[in-house]
Amino acid sequence: MLQTSEKIWMDGKFVAWADAQVHVLTHSLHYGLAAFEGIRCYKGKSGSAIFRLPEHVDRLFESAHIGLIEMPFDRKQISEAIVETVRVNRLEACYIRPLVYIGYGAMGLYPAENPIKVSIAAWKWGTYLGDEALSKGIRARVSSFTRHHVNVSMTRGKISGYYVNSILAKREVKADGYDEAIMLDPEGYVAEGTGENVFIVRRGVLKTTPLTSILEGITRNSIIQLAKERNIPVVEERFTRDEMYVAEEVFVTGTAAELTPVTEIDQRRIGSGKPGPITQTLQKAFFDVVGGTDSAHRQWLTSV
Ligand code: PMP
Repeated sequence: MLQTSEKIWMDGKFVAWADAQVHVLTHSLHYGLAAFEGIRCYKGKSGSAIFRLPEHVDRLFESAHIGLIEMPFDRKQISEAIVETVRVNRLEACYIRPLVYIGYGAMGLYPAENPIKVSIAAWKWGTYLGDEALSKGIRARVSSFTRHHVNVSMTRGKISGYYVNSILAKREVKADGYDEAIMLDPEGYVAEGTGENVFIVRRGVLKTTPLTSILEGITRNSIIQLAKERNIPVVEERFTRDEMYVAEEVFVTGTAAELTPVTEIDQRRIGSGKPGPITQTLQKAFFDVVGGTDSAHRQWLTSV
């Protein structure tokens, strides 16, 4: 169970956590067309700060735009509401979940007149893939489920219904004792995790999937920048599952997963079987930024 907070922002005002309810005929609940974000707030050197808030708000609006969902608020209002949600709940480090969904009105697949609803919840959340995941790494398995074809689900959007595919992949590999699933695209190249982007290190070069069949991860973008600044060669290039097996290092990135090393895939040990040096360098760089000790990226933090 998640750790509840006091209040949730719903359509412009705060309601008590327990009162944040919707009608059972809420359109998005039936058909999955809704847009959402996952954002982290960190308690750092100079207080609490939200990581890359404008980029997350932009992606929320882009997801809604892709899904033909007309946002009833502007970017400034949503940004302020996100900050306010952290404040009123007196949270320090937390996870923030904005959701834009199609409300109760007409049923059927043409919800043109239905109200568009927006909610923002925030709660205390620790590590996503287990307490030891960040330091020791995780075991992953390539899922039997294929990741979306871009003309089936437009993966630039973070759209609720797309996550059926992620949940099925996650449940499949968890049932087999693995921590996370890695999904291949319809052509058989590595796409992404269920809620993370994938990086490998091969012959000293950091590689990550190009933005074809994946979500444009904000952590992914941050890690690419941090790698370049540290003179780590980085390319956005397709790779196969066997290239992943023989990589020196593999890690996944995401708001929830942060930067988590992957030390085993499909019963193959990756590199030494321990988080590798580039993984560790970038993980430290990331936590220095979000914790506010690396002043080079203060613009990535919005103080609460
Ligand atoms: N891919 C998928 C499918 C995701 O759900 C996420 C999490 N939002 C990511 C990648 C990573 O994106 P970000 O770094 O922006 O959280």
